[in-house]
Amino acid sequence: MKIRRDKRDAVFSNLTRERAEWVCERCGKYHPEGFRQSLHCSHIYSRRNRMTRWMPLNAAAHCFACHNFLGENPLIFAEWAKGHLGKKNYEKLGRLARTKAKLSKPDLEEIHKDLKREYERMVALRMDGVDGRIEFDVPGPIKRLMGVA
Ligand SMILES: [Zn+2]
Repeated sequence: MKIRRDKRDAVFSNLTRERAEWVCERCGKYHPEGFRQSLHCSHIYSRRNRMTRWMPLNAAAHCFACHNFLGENPLIFAEWAKGHLGKKNYEKLGRLARTKAKLSKPDLEEIHKDLKREYERMVALRMDGVDGRIEFDVPGPIKRLMGVA
């Protein structure tokens, strides 16, 4: 079943790809302006699970070819994710993905606001000339559900 992409997913996708400086995190292919739509935000655990849907650990920037390949080869995707995140984070992500998250309408609005604020921060850092990976924060309502806020 296809899950409709919402406004939070759009900001989250930009954050994920900007974090990686528009480079595929599997093959290293760079996507300059004008070619950015062929770099995708891929999700390690499906967007179906709301606990991890907008969690920085759950996404990576993948080029069209890598995204397709990994989508068709879930075991290779899992191995890749384990290597990419490290075993500890990979296991933590798995536990979170299996946790039910009940999010109210105000929670969802707050998630959108938090993601937008993080994106503005990241873009400002890039404009200041910051290169390399820039991490972004877990949205407030998800942190509260995790018990870390
Ligand atoms: Zn690639």
